[in-house]
Amino acid sequence: MRRSALVSWSGFAMVVAAAGFWAPDAGLAQGRGGRQGQPGVQIQAGDECPAGTTEVRKGRCQAPDKPAPSIVDYRPKPTVVAEAHMVPKAKFPVVDIHSHLTVTSDNMEQTIKEMDALNLRVLNNLSGGSGAALKEKVETIRKSAYKDRFRVFANVKWDGAGGAGWKEKEVAALRQAVADGAVGLKIFKDLGLRSTKADGSRLKIDDPDLDPIFQLCAELNIPVLIHTADPAQFFEPIDNHNERWLELGLFPNRAYPQDRFPSFETLMQERDRMFARNPKTRFIAAHFAWYGNDVARGSRMLDTLPNVYLEVAAVLYEFGRQPRAWTEFFTKYQDRVLFGKDTYEPTEYPYYWRVFETRDEYFDYYRNYHAFWKLYGMGLPDAVLKKLYYQNAVKITPGMPQGGW
Ligand SMILES: [Zn+2]
Repeated sequence: MRRSALVSWSGFAMVVAAAGFWAPDAGLAQGRGGRQGQPGVQIQAGDECPAGTTEVRKGRCQAPDKPAPSIVDYRPKPTVVAEAHMVPKAKFPVVDIHSHLTVTSDNMEQTIKEMDALNLRVLNNLSGGSGAALKEKVETIRKSAYKDRFRVFANVKWDGAGGAGWKEKEVAALRQAVADGAVGLKIFKDLGLRSTKADGSRLKIDDPDLDPIFQLCAELNIPVLIHTADPAQFFEPIDNHNERWLELGLFPNRAYPQDRFPSFETLMQERDRMFARNPKTRFIAAHFAWYGNDVARGSRMLDTLPNVYLEVAAVLYEFGRQPRAWTEFFTKYQDRVLFGKDTYEPTEYPYYWRVFETRDEYFDYYRNYHAFWKLYGMGLPDAVLKKLYYQNAVKITPGMPQGGW
């Protein structure tokens, strides 16, 4: 199924790529059949052009007169001459609330150099684990010369929830992790997608067996950063309508075939019900809750769930393609947004700074398989930038360095 999708998409894209090369007398290859002897294929309103053709006039589809490059090879050079304001260093200090970098005595000096160049003040490692492993990560930071530059979130082992002793064990482990220096809880996307209950069934995100964990987070006054599902396109058919076709072609294991996984909507609803049921717990929805392509849905979430915050990791391409709507959103909900990056790659942070800080137009994202479109800057005001970059993270995470900003 994936193979045939590939063929039809390449054909479709080739046509899109080369549309415009058509000349009226060169159209024999694409067949006649159009109105009044025009080349091409007629379609009815609402129908799609056949594979290998594209709509050149209302209701008339035509193939290009030469073999077209595939979407993999099509790299047009933009002719637009636009001002470029590169931003190598963020305008204000930044807390990266969504990192997975574990610092050691070996990589710390180099990491600090990179962070200073970017104006990254604090890097928050969400992969803290629990027990001795977590304690060691915290100790490495505390014993270093940079104890205010790194923080760690703990993790819970969800498999076996509902079984004898699970709750007691995991509640105690999380309590210990926070006593050992963890400043929050991170939940990986396994919860909802892969984790299982003691009886072998899928562990739902809103399973009441998990509530003691969330209540403990409220009691300990630590935020919970939760990654649920993945982009909606990963749950959809991999065909020429899927916005992430190229990514799913390059990384087939990112797809969630619907005969084996819950739907995107199921996971969103479980998560949002869990948020609603634990109003005293502060939640940070990773990757903007995957609502980065739906401003209205993001607004509804924040309007109805006052305990929820959104962080921007790995969804920059969404804000950058809709900069006006998102600038309004970030301004309206400026107390509810946090900065995160996910993958620690110093060369990629400046793309975020540029989208958030400048009003540049039509520039590239750093991964073309995520976003085949261009980005536009939002030019956020300083007050909003500060909240996004560090103030909100510091406010909702008491374990963050509270001074020196
Ligand atoms: Zn992550």
